[in-house]
Amino acid sequence: MTKRLIFLGPPGAGKGTQAQILSETYKIPHISTGDILRTAVTYKTPLGDKAKGYMDRGELVPDDLILDLIKDRLLQSDAAKGWILDGFPRNVAQAKFLNSLLAELDLAADRVLYLAVPDEVLISRLLSRQRRDDNEATIRRRLEVYRRDTMPVIDFYQEQSTLKTIDGDGAMENVTSALKEAIA
Ligand code: ADP
Repeated sequence: MTKRLIFLGPPGAGKGTQAQILSETYKIPHISTGDILRTAVTYKTPLGDKAKGYMDRGELVPDDLILDLIKDRLLQSDAAKGWILDGFPRNVAQAKFLNSLLAELDLAADRVLYLAVPDEVLISRLLSRQRRDDNEATIRRRLEVYRRDTMPVIDFYQEQSTLKTIDGDGAMENVTSALKEAIA
C-alpha cells in the first residue's frame, strides 16, 4: 500500500523525529517544510531571505512562498511511492490547496496523524532544543500561531474523518509503535 501521511501537531510534539523514523521504516521521503526553509535560510537563497524574518519571529511564512514549493516537491519522482508531510499544511488555506492538488493528481492522503502533547511538555522540550528560533519569546509566539492557524486544520481533517489522534507524551518508542499501529 502507498503511504501518504500527514503529521499534525504543535511545535515540539515530536513530528520531525517520528517522521524521520517512519520515513526509514516505510522508505518514503520525509518532507518537512521547516527543514526546507531552514536549508534555504542557511544557503541564503531568495526563498531563505524572504522567509528568515518570519521564522525568527515565530510567524508562519506567507502561503505564496510555501504552496509552489510543496507542489514541486510532491511531483518529484521519489514522492510517487508515498510521503510524510511534516509542518504542512499549517493553516486551512494550505489544507485546501493540498486537497485540490491531490485531487488533480487523482490522489488522497491515506492518514492524517495528530500527535497530541500537553503544553507544559512542549515548552520544556522546545527550551531544551538548540535551534536558533527556539528562544522563549519565539516559542510563545509559535504556540499562539499554532492555536490560531493550525488547530483549525485538525477540525478540517476531523470533518473528513481521515484523522487519528496519537498520544505523543510518552517514550519515543511507544509513540513510534502507536503511529505504526495507526498507519497499518
Ligand atoms: P516547529 O515544529 O517547531 O513549529 P518547523 O520546523 O515545522 O518547527 O517550522 C519552523 C518555522 O518554519 C515555523 O515557525 C514557520 O515560520 C516556518 N514554516 C514551516 N512550515 C511552514 C508552513 N507550512 N507554512 C508557513 N510557515 C512555515
